[in-house]
Amino acid sequence: MTNIRRAILAIALLLAPMGAYAAEAVSLIDFGKSAAAAIAYDPLTSSGYLEKDGSFISFAVGQPFMVFDWKGLKKIEAPYLDGDAVMLPAAFSSEASSYFSSKGGSKKEKYRVATILIDPGHGGKDTGAIGEVNGLRLLEKDLTLEVSRRVVDLLKSSYPGRNIITTREGDTYPTLDERVSMANEAGLRKDEAIIYVSIHANASFNKNAKGYEVWYLNPEYRRTVVDANTVKEKGTEIAPILNAMLEEEFTTESIILARKVYDRLGAAIGPQSQGRGIRAEEWFVVRNAKMPSILIEMGFITNPEEGLMLSSSGYLRKISDAIYNGVVDFIDHFER
Ligand SMILES: [Zn+2]
Repeated sequence: MTNIRRAILAIALLLAPMGAYAAEAVSLIDFGKSAAAAIAYDPLTSSGYLEKDGSFISFAVGQPFMVFDWKGLKKIEAPYLDGDAVMLPAAFSSEASSYFSSKGGSKKEKYRVATILIDPGHGGKDTGAIGEVNGLRLLEKDLTLEVSRRVVDLLKSSYPGRNIITTREGDTYPTLDERVSMANEAGLRKDEAIIYVSIHANASFNKNAKGYEVWYLNPEYRRTVVDANTVKEKGTEIAPILNAMLEEEFTTESIILARKVYDRLGAAIGPQSQGRGIRAEEWFVVRNAKMPSILIEMGFITNPEEGLMLSSSGYLRKISDAIYNGVVDFIDHFER
């Protein structure tokens, strides 16, 4: 063998493992089928997860990491797109398989929504939006409390084993920071999740503005979901990356939660009001909650017809029932 041939062979041998990985990449859908794992992928955030028996592996296209059960982080070849298909490099899928089989024997409890935090907007000295119906003042803080109370009651009776909490039970004024702390400090085991639902009514100088909308966090916005201490064994440089991936996970779940509630609102009050869509924004309350979270604007208190409807308990009950049903739909989806 000539020296040149020997050199070429050596290079070929060095390249072989990489070539094999590329050749054995498998689509997310095929991997999900062969591993009997549920898959979720949101093209909007380019992120998704695989779930099997309550264990989750999350990923984002182009990110050379995988996250195990929202905590463990492993550097790995990044999933990529082939047309519309998400492709998992061989190193990724074999790592995912061994993680799922390592978890398979332990028969861990299914991941579940353990805590639901309902946040009636405003309160106390903060009236929120103000409208006027037949000479009477209509205050956003009163409407949000009435709707929230019913949502809390419905959830408590449907889910006696779960922690249903609210940021206020009366006409009090928790600050935005306090509301977010209540959410972030709810004690959770590692297989438990919390969702956060903030309820508001809208106002506009344009008296014709009407309709309901559901907001979730703008995926462009980056929060601090974990701090360097919680991942210190991996080094502090990992924290921002883990944050970005968890953030995307929360965003994916938030969009699903927003969609479920929005659809239920459409069925309940669509004919009388009007859907203004699901929107992404950097609301303070939603932005700082470290969990799937949405903010509902149930209608315009400043629109004469909608204000009149919002002043009736029957209409508020319809809204409460829709929010409750949307949350139930989300839990069914999340825990299926
Ligand atoms: Zn408000």
